Amino acid sequence: MGEPPAVLVTHPDYLLHVNPPGHPERPERLLAVEQLLRRTPFWEALPRRTAEPVDEEFLVRVHTRGHIAHIRDLAASGGGAVDADTFVSAASYDAACLAAGGARLAVDVVLRQEAPVAMAFVRPPGHHAEPGSAMGFCLFNNIALAARYAIETHGVERVLVLDWDVHHGNGTQDVFYRDPRVVVCSLHQEHWYPGTGAIDEVGEGPGEGCTINVPLPVGLGDGGYRHLWNEVVLPLVRAVAPGLILVSAGYDAHHADPLAGMRVTARGFGELSLLLRQTAGDTPIAGILEGGYDLRGLAYSVAATLEGWTGIASEVAEPAAEVREAPFPVASARAREVRHVVGAYWNL
Ligand SMILES: [Zn+2]
Repeated sequence: MGEPPAVLVTHPDYLLHVNPPGHPERPERLLAVEQLLRRTPFWEALPRRTAEPVDEEFLVRVHTRGHIAHIRDLAASGGGAVDADTFVSAASYDAACLAAGGARLAVDVVLRQEAPVAMAFVRPPGHHAEPGSAMGFCLFNNIALAARYAIETHGVERVLVLDWDVHHGNGTQDVFYRDPRVVVCSLHQEHWYPGTGAIDEVGEGPGEGCTINVPLPVGLGDGGYRHLWNEVVLPLVRAVAPGLILVSAGYDAHHADPLAGMRVTARGFGELSLLLRQTAGDTPIAGILEGGYDLRGLAYSVAATLEGWTGIASEVAEPAAEVREAPFPVASARAREVRHVVGAYWNL
């Protein structure tokens, strides 16, 4: 037996973090992913590993002790609201420590060369969480913690964080805004939550040029994303030549998602994943689940991602739907704008 093409990271207690009734970020998301993956060859072919919780000393790689204590104390008191849409339940601190632990395990798997690809199916998500505050359904920034860990513990010199969640990864950007060791590229719906992520937010000081924002006009779909991949994302992967690619894998750009207006299909996510994998070559890839709130769209998109990353056919296909995406010139105009800004720092 050689190494498996990928490893999946899970933990049953990710289901114990709960939001108030009607909240889109709900345990059923992970159950929907698992139910579909059980019908695919991935369930047999890909080993599943169980995350271990991180401790406070791990969280301080990114977060303030005050923020950590706030979340821990709120959970210990039975839970409560952090802001209008971010909540802590009694089990949320432990779940959040396991979510960060899932991201850590995914990094360990790929950097110890147990598999070239790992994907962590965690809750709560992380990319909106800033060093001192929770927001946007996120308590601790799983992917930022994973990036720091890869550098500080595994000695990776440069990490590329690719964030394809439909919302700007403001927390991740904030953590690494002055850090040239972590290049953060976010594609997101423009003029949308959380409001940051303009093209001219490029990083500061030693980190100038290492933040790449690709705000997208509403309505872009598979063709538009593919164009931005070919014009910006894939050239950036080649130019950065990272030792590790971390993907903030959110699926709320799916056409059926209730929280945004993009038009990507599951098949589209599969194509983007395949192109990324081909361009990455020997560079390991670890995906960390972020958003994605249409249960069926989420599950099929995850399966398509695994197909693109492993080369194993998923043998499931999203039911056909009529998806009308924004006209191509919208995507090509945005690609030119981004290339103009990013081209000052990277040879795209
Ligand atoms: Zn999102």
